[in-house]
Amino acid sequence: MTAPDRPSVGGRPAFVGLGANLGDAAGTLRDTLVQLDRLPQTRLRAASSLYRTAPVEADGPDYVNAVAWLDTGLSASELLAGLQGLEQDAGRLRSYRNAPRTLDLDLLLYGDEVSEDPLLTLPHPRMHLRAFVLVPLAELCADLYVPGRGALRDLLHQLEPQPISRLA
Ligand code: AMP
Repeated sequence: MTAPDRPSVGGRPAFVGLGANLGDAAGTLRDTLVQLDRLPQTRLRAASSLYRTAPVEADGPDYVNAVAWLDTGLSASELLAGLQGLEQDAGRLRSYRNAPRTLDLDLLLYGDEVSEDPLLTLPHPRMHLRAFVLVPLAELCADLYVPGRGALRDLLHQLEPQPISRLA
């Protein structure tokens, strides 16, 4: 039976990329997975392993990355606002582009929705180029098709080599 404060959301599948490279990055990501499950009308369906990756087009320490699979009754823009709230809560400093960050959350996919809006581009415009997105995503849903980009398996094969290792 569903608890009164945990109603079924019956919503859309959404995939969120998580990354951090300051402080206790692994701890931040584990806490964030709990927080994602607490967003309104949203449930964490599955989470990938945590991965260590070298920064892409950026400086600073290695990143810890993961991908979360949500079911949500929120609209895509409502969900993005929720993600940005969690980033703020984690104390992210936007000092310069690609600066080291306490927490970065990207909305990778929202169902099969496609959007060219710079405020919310779907699928996320760079996800198909990033091992730190595609590898954990494949762990969750290997048969996924990325709208406008192709099958996840093919995207993985086309990737430039990028260092990535699963955290113990
Ligand atoms: P970043 O600093 O890389 O996290 O980019 C944040 C900016 O990207 C914000 O202004 C968002 O509105 C915008 N944005 C566009 N599409 C997305 C997306 N799919 N997920 C997260 N942020 C997005």
